Amino acid sequence: MTKQGFTTRQVHADRRLNKPQSGAVHTSTSNSVLFEFEDAQGIIDVFQGKVPGHVYSRSSSPSVSALQEIINDLEGGVGALCFATGMAAISATFLSLFRHGDHLIVSQFLFGNTRSLMNTLMDFGVQISFVDVTDVQCVKQAYQPNTRAVFTETVANPVTQVADVQAIGRYCEERGLLLIVDNTMTPPPLLSAKNMKASLVVNSLTKYIAGHGNVLGGVIVDTGNFDWRSFSNIAPGYQVGEPAQWGLTQIKKKGLRDMGATLAPASAHSISIGLETLALRLQRSCTNALRLATFLESHAKVKAVYYPGLADHPQHFLAREHLTGGYGAILSLDVTDDIDPVEFLNQLKLVICATHLGDNRTLALPVAATIFHENGPEERARMGISETMIRVSVGIEDTDDLVADFAQALDFFA
Ligand SMILES: *Cc1c(COP(=O)(O)O)cnc(C)c1O
Repeated sequence: MTKQGFTTRQVHADRRLNKPQSGAVHTSTSNSVLFEFEDAQGIIDVFQGKVPGHVYSRSSSPSVSALQEIINDLEGGVGALCFATGMAAISATFLSLFRHGDHLIVSQFLFGNTRSLMNTLMDFGVQISFVDVTDVQCVKQAYQPNTRAVFTETVANPVTQVADVQAIGRYCEERGLLLIVDNTMTPPPLLSAKNMKASLVVNSLTKYIAGHGNVLGGVIVDTGNFDWRSFSNIAPGYQVGEPAQWGLTQIKKKGLRDMGATLAPASAHSISIGLETLALRLQRSCTNALRLATFLESHAKVKAVYYPGLADHPQHFLAREHLTGGYGAILSLDVTDDIDPVEFLNQLKLVICATHLGDNRTLALPVAATIFHENGPEERARMGISETMIRVSVGIEDTDDLVADFAQALDFFA
């Protein structure tokens, strides 16, 4: 049988992959922290990794494993590991794989909290070059003999720069570098990080994958593209079994078990329910975003619109190549100089003024004064963030209602 489509697989994933008991179509939520064995040898075998199983739910539980199976299947990976939040997935991955003296090439257009985490890593002695990932030449120029990895987001927030992940992936493959991609903005089916040769894919499950603004989570998937035998930071004790699992084993032991940001079983269940409609929600949000961006671009009271689906976006050609399922649902705008962006936001009636993105509801906020406030004006300028920028995370509402809300708010200042 040929491989079924993404939407079919996401809806049937739980019963197909996890085979819940008693004919249930969902894996039931397991609240047990501890697990009992038939005999003492049973717990010894699981502890020593000879037999798969759960011993203590900080490291693994049936509920979280069930979600991991589903996400791994949808990403086409060799394994997935969930965390309490997207930031927990990112920090655990970096802290468990890299050491003092390693060099990383990192996108200069990063989610603010991830950028702040990079500062912490530098305090610990990891060297980082921040580069313009829209151009693979900038990545190549930053290479040093101690470079271990490249890290980028696919479409940056809020200015929507599109990384040339495909070219970066080819370069990393040639050089034997680990490529870590934060795919939160363009989860499958929009962009397959595995096909772009990423080694590890990070997703904030809180955003599009769960989609309803009611649960936090994060995940890291190993795509199977990277040969961990060439990565000198894997501890000898974790170089056991299939080399394809070495990276995740180290992240699981050092990053999840030792650091402890475990996803709660009930959260795993909520995320798996949200995930069933991922493709449908994304399709609708992307359609809405393109319509809204087109409307805003032509409005006299709007100075600039940033959206990869617009023909005059600087990386529109890359977006067309990489994002075959839609251009994502984040757009930003600058209103004309005579309008105070805060006053403008106050005129929106349907759109909610809130941080967060990837929600069913359309959200907007003033970027410089909130999520990028801590970065200061100079770094904001380097990231291309104007002081008046408004970010919009486009939801699944009826398109005409969204356009009408922006139209009436802009008309207020006409
Ligand atoms: C929100 C976000 C994260 C962090 O996810 P949380 O689940 O909120 O911790 C990481 N990367 C990107 C690109 C994000 O948008």
